[in-house]
Amino acid sequence: MKRCLFLIWIGFTGHVAFAQEPVSNADREIVFKSVNVIPMDKETVLQNQTVVVKGGKITALGNDASVKFGKEALVINAAGKYLAPGWSEMHAHVPTVDDLAPMKDVLMLYLANGITTIRGMLGNAKHLELREKVRNGEILGPNFYTTGPAFSGQSVKTAERGIEMVREEKQAGYDYLKLLPGLTKQTFPGIAETSAELGIPMVGHVSFNVGVWAAIDANQSSIDHLDGFVEAITPGIDTLVEQETGLFGAWIAYSADTTKIPKLIQALKAKNVRVVPTQAIAERWLSPLPADSYANDDDLKYMKPEEIKNWMNAKNSYYTNPKFNKERAEAFIAIRRKLILACQKGGVELLLGCDAPQVLNVPGFAIHHEMKYLTEAGLSPFETLKTGTVNVAKYLKKDNSGSIKKGNVSDLVLLAGNPLEDIGQTRNVEGVMIGSRWLSKEFLQKELAKLEKK
Ligand SMILES: [Zn+2]
Repeated sequence: MKRCLFLIWIGFTGHVAFAQEPVSNADREIVFKSVNVIPMDKETVLQNQTVVVKGGKITALGNDASVKFGKEALVINAAGKYLAPGWSEMHAHVPTVDDLAPMKDVLMLYLANGITTIRGMLGNAKHLELREKVRNGEILGPNFYTTGPAFSGQSVKTAERGIEMVREEKQAGYDYLKLLPGLTKQTFPGIAETSAELGIPMVGHVSFNVGVWAAIDANQSSIDHLDGFVEAITPGIDTLVEQETGLFGAWIAYSADTTKIPKLIQALKAKNVRVVPTQAIAERWLSPLPADSYANDDDLKYMKPEEIKNWMNAKNSYYTNPKFNKERAEAFIAIRRKLILACQKGGVELLLGCDAPQVLNVPGFAIHHEMKYLTEAGLSPFETLKTGTVNVAKYLKKDNSGSIKKGNVSDLVLLAGNPLEDIGQTRNVEGVMIGSRWLSKEFLQKELAKLEKK
């Protein structure tokens, strides 16, 4: 039995397929029979399709009767189910440790939720090794991109150090530079110039001292958390110090001037800055509700008790802050929703991401919250799904991903229901195809069960 499983793992599946182990399509076709396809290149459902994947690619797609496949193929009866491109989590976190084991666990949480690409937003040298091992198939995980160690007020005390750090991270092979708060008008310009010179994009936060206009001007590749947006549209911001404004402008949002939104959107659009809302943090951590409203969330079972305790403490400290009141918290959430919708309507490309494991957001599972919140901000389910598929493919310049068509990569998620009608269906994962591997629901459930914390 042991030997069989090993053989399956490396791809010689033969005629036998164990439901509880990944099946490889490296040498053998995998066929989704009678499936409803959500291609994502346009808003439609193609009913009763046969989709054939082999060698990590979609090799055929068409009406059940018209598509041929070999008799050795693994056929998955997917009648009544929906096949969609897997999602990207563009503000992911993978543990910043020196051990691959906890990283693998997190990758599984992402995969089990239909996420086939992640951008790790705080990297270290071990993440480069992880990226390599995911690429060569040694470690099972979503396509992995990573930033290096963060640029912050702590790590960058001088302009020279900022420039040097960009050079070091480019040299080390990181994909992006992660910006955290604390950069200044002295340290930011050198980082930005060297980023442009070496072609390694800046992503993440906007430092209060830098401000969103300078970040846009410097072609920051993605602004995450809508950081700096509330500040940019709040009158009298120049008279405030950072501590008065709160996380992402939570304490001042009630006084924001929404007539200033179009100018911000035009600037973002003109420079093609991508926006990763991570609205799930705002809606959960910075919501008007007390911590105990979230205590029974089923997803929390994948977090260690001490982490949950930290989250509850963080939530409580927001809720009990003298600056907090329910109306202001509601205004903050509402203004963020307005900003998200304005991005969508104004042609600023949104990328799906939610910054788990930040307060009350569990890696992988948080993506479903995020998608729901995007629809609550006014995006259609199709627009919401695009933020995690088509928009990301364009951003990563990976033309053969993000949609279902012949020749594209087979990074797919099989769902029990139609997410175009009900975005909540993204939770109902029936299996995931990551490159050349098919992860059945049985396999994913078994892996998730192992990751539950006692
Ligand atoms: Zn983050």
